[in-house]
Amino acid sequence: MKNICVYCASSSKIDSKYVDSAKKLGHLLAENSMQLVYGGGSVGLMGILADSVLEKGGKVTGIIPQFMVEAEWHHEGLTELVLTETMHERKEKMASMSDAAVALPGGCGTLEELLEVITWKQLGIYKNPIIIVNVDGYYNHLLAQFRQAADELFMRPQHLDMWTVVETADQVIEAIRNSKPVHEDLRQYAKI
Ligand code: AMP
Repeated sequence: MKNICVYCASSSKIDSKYVDSAKKLGHLLAENSMQLVYGGGSVGLMGILADSVLEKGGKVTGIIPQFMVEAEWHHEGLTELVLTETMHERKEKMASMSDAAVALPGGCGTLEELLEVITWKQLGIYKNPIIIVNVDGYYNHLLAQFRQAADELFMRPQHLDMWTVVETADQVIEAIRNSKPVHEDLRQYAKI
């Protein structure tokens, strides 16, 4: 297990409990010799996460569209910065480079990234572990929405196994290691 893709907030205005969880995750990735792959930003949880990996001697690859670099949103101290033409290309690269995807709390961008990688897993395009870090219940409403989708047959109950929910950053590495491999016949039941 080497490259871990993390989706998280670009906001810097959020509660310190979220900041603490990003710092913790960054330290754990570095201590476990896991490389961070993320959106390459310098602000919010994104910046804190990258700094936390780097301060423990870990490696960070940022993947960011050219227009964000022109706006100077990128982190300037990363191990590697990969520029893309588009947001779509960025997300595809982040997923294809990663051995697991992790969502810390975030806004629309994070939700969109998490839902996309879950959708890709449902279709058998992404086969690696997906971990949702439900810090202080931040994702409770989203998880309830997923359950409703399964209850009302918008998705199969098996699809609820596509991700693992943990409560704190401390549990992420173990959750990645314990994730069940996806069924070989994933596409067989992609269609409900
Ligand atoms: P959000 O969860 O809405 O804060 O969005 C996080 C995601 O939005 C990141 O992964 C990026 O795709 C993008 N994003 C939004 N603002 C920034 C920023 N200032 N720098 C880098 N990426 C950003």
